[in-house]
Amino acid sequence: MDDFGVAINYCSKCGSKINEHVNKKDSVTALICKSCDAVYYDNPKIIVLSLIDCNGKVLLCKRAIKPRLGYWALPGGYMEKNETVEEAAQRETKEETGVVVEKLHLYTMVSCPKINQVYFVFRGSVTSDYIEIGEESLDAKFYAECDVPWDSLSYKIMNKVLDWYFEDYSNGEYLFRTHDTYEICPD
Ligand SMILES: [Zn+2]
Repeated sequence: MDDFGVAINYCSKCGSKINEHVNKKDSVTALICKSCDAVYYDNPKIIVLSLIDCNGKVLLCKRAIKPRLGYWALPGGYMEKNETVEEAAQRETKEETGVVVEKLHLYTMVSCPKINQVYFVFRGSVTSDYIEIGEESLDAKFYAECDVPWDSLSYKIMNKVLDWYFEDYSNGEYLFRTHDTYEICPD
């Protein structure tokens, strides 16, 4: 996996092999097809995460897919076309845990320039702890702060966001935060 996520090897317009990285306007890197001049831009991906509370416990799911298979994470995934970021967070939460949340609030925004990703973390709450585990999860559960599997969370950003959340929860005030991380997520 390179900066382009899944490597683009062939032009989808003319089928020629693509092997050129070009610098456009000094700093922007793109792939270009030498045969037909098609340009493939490489913009950052948007990832949504949901922090769903049920009576002070937060929803985590155990990943059934790589990377970080078997580790616990906030429900989330890539934003799709034709949806809002909030709808993306609602959809991913429902797909992975069966939990339906009516209203979400933007809670944290994380920039990851090294891996070309931006995370939008939403928070919301539900009154029922009913869960229906989706295909991308091995398990899903609402955890109290003292029971969170802190050493088995998928990425450090999960620890960070959960730390902030429980701190805000006990203070009774949720603060919007932005954070930049230069970590490269492990496989
Ligand atoms: Zn081409």
